[in-house]
Amino acid sequence: MDWWAYAVQQNCSWYWKKIVEIKDLFRAKLDKSAFMAVQYSIQSGYDILYDQHIKVQWSKFVWERCSIPKHRYILWLVLHRKLRTKEHLSKYFHAMDTVCLLCGDHKEDITHLFFQCTYSKICFVKMKEWIGCQAQTEHYQALLQWISKAKHLSKLRKGFFIAAVT
Ligand SMILES: [Zn+2]
Repeated sequence: MDWWAYAVQQNCSWYWKKIVEIKDLFRAKLDKSAFMAVQYSIQSGYDILYDQHIKVQWSKFVWERCSIPKHRYILWLVLHRKLRTKEHLSKYFHAMDTVCLLCGDHKEDITHLFFQCTYSKICFVKMKEWIGCQAQTEHYQALLQWISKAKHLSKLRKGFFIAAVT
């Protein structure tokens, strides 16, 4: 069997389909001989698949050195809208309730969980007061933009605020 030309069967597992899908992404970029000539590494695979590197504005906050690694990961998931909130999980588990565990009043999605929930709002207002944030927005990307432009904040306070948001 020629792996390079292999086509996935419909009755295969989700995982196998993803592996074949990634192989097909490489096949769309390179022919077999060009791929075999590459000394493969994670970096070279990334470079082949994503030839345009788009620098996002929030990357330095996500990967801030003084933040906790778990917080970095949660913030990264939030910014990619992949955090497993109840609303997100309900797409896969249809009978799952989506009510917020903190307030018990609304659907638990990213915006609600971090900015609209009454409990989160209390925490958030206290954090905004602590860093002297005057921004009226409660949207996390707008706040990250505000933080990036705030010259009066020390790097440590920015890191604490980002850790608190996540
Ligand atoms: Zn809530």
